[in-house]
Amino acid sequence: MSEPNGTAPKVYDVAIIGSGPAGYTAALYASRANMKTVVFKGWESGGQLMLTTDVENFPGYKDGVMGPEMMEDLEGQAARFGSEMRPDEIDRIDFSERPFKLWAEDEDRPTIAKTVIIATGAKAKWLGLENEQRLMGRGVSGCATCDGFFFRDKKVAVIGGGDTAMEEALYLTNHASEVNLIHRRDEFRASQIMLDRARKNEKINILTNTTVEDILGEDAVTGARLKNARTGDESDLPVDGFFTAIGHEPATALFRGKVETDDEGYIIQKDHTMTSVPGVFAAGDVSDRRYRQAITAAADGCRAAIDAERWLDDQGEADAIEDPGEWTSSKDNA
Ligand SMILES: Cc1cc2nc3c(=O)[nH]c(=O)nc-3n(C[C@H](O)[C@H](O)[C@H](O)COP(=O)(O)OP(=O)(O)OC[C@H]3O[C@@H](n4cnc5c(N)ncnc54)[C@H](O)[C@@H]3O)c2cc1C
Repeated sequence: MSEPNGTAPKVYDVAIIGSGPAGYTAALYASRANMKTVVFKGWESGGQLMLTTDVENFPGYKDGVMGPEMMEDLEGQAARFGSEMRPDEIDRIDFSERPFKLWAEDEDRPTIAKTVIIATGAKAKWLGLENEQRLMGRGVSGCATCDGFFFRDKKVAVIGGGDTAMEEALYLTNHASEVNLIHRRDEFRASQIMLDRARKNEKINILTNTTVEDILGEDAVTGARLKNARTGDESDLPVDGFFTAIGHEPATALFRGKVETDDEGYIIQKDHTMTSVPGVFAAGDVSDRRYRQAITAAADGCRAAIDAERWLDDQGEADAIEDPGEWTSSKDNA
């Protein structure tokens, strides 16, 4: 397929979709293995850690590191070995034949790649209340580290029972005068250490067996209507901020029906990191409903890049590109 100006499109050895710890680590390993690598950074360049301040559990940073700074380091390290960084979002893919085709938003011409690593991560889940959407940015938030500052000396509510909820609640105690941690059950999914920290914090008031029926307020949040799950009694809790921290949803809408997913939409790694489509790999939170940590995502990115390289080698030249006359191999271009 020749271009109008006569130049054949570049064929990448690997296209990586996503720029979180998984995507950048995959890029680092792929480019150091001499694979022609492109990274599509997408809607949230740097991934979820761009939403946080201190990261204290990523090896190598003895005094901790700010999330955005760490992601800048990861991007720089991958770029140093030749990974091409593109800001675009991928909004269409064709995995039905090889080489694979990926369309970046607003582009007619696809990017061509012999292998693909999906590292699109996950995003926060919402309760689904009408007022949650209406008051978004006016007191409703999904990110304490982004918006906590706006609630200095104010009362807030955090919804959830996992580590994210504990982390959000603890972070908010740096700003708010009172943090109400609301959980629908009396048992927590959170790790014991995080739960203990929350329990010990005098600013945190834990309400268990409590559901949120509504978020109150006209122009801004003024409170939350709560229901005691045991008695059915309703009460209004006056708060200025409402932080939803009930988990994440994998960013896999683009791949549904194209690669196998589980009942929650997480991509299934069938053979090490390879998906149900040979040559397409998945890494990080997009296929991890258990750990969801930066280090596990990074490790998965490493595994996916090694798997992609080995798979490509196993295919041999003839199979890797079906019509070499039409496409210019990246290795030929390099
Ligand atoms: C507030 C907060 C604090 C956290 N703190 C810590 C911590 O201290 N320590 C820790 O280990 N973990 C922490 N985590 C978890 C950690 O951030 C995640 O586990 C990790 O970021 C997952 O990495 P990932 O690469 O799989 O995906 P993500 O970081 O979710 O990145 C996904 C990437 O995919 C891109 N993308 C999505 N769709 C497309 C598309 N169609 N086209 C192109 N690109 C696309 C996005 O732009 C993004 O760059 C925290 C998470 C949050 C939300």
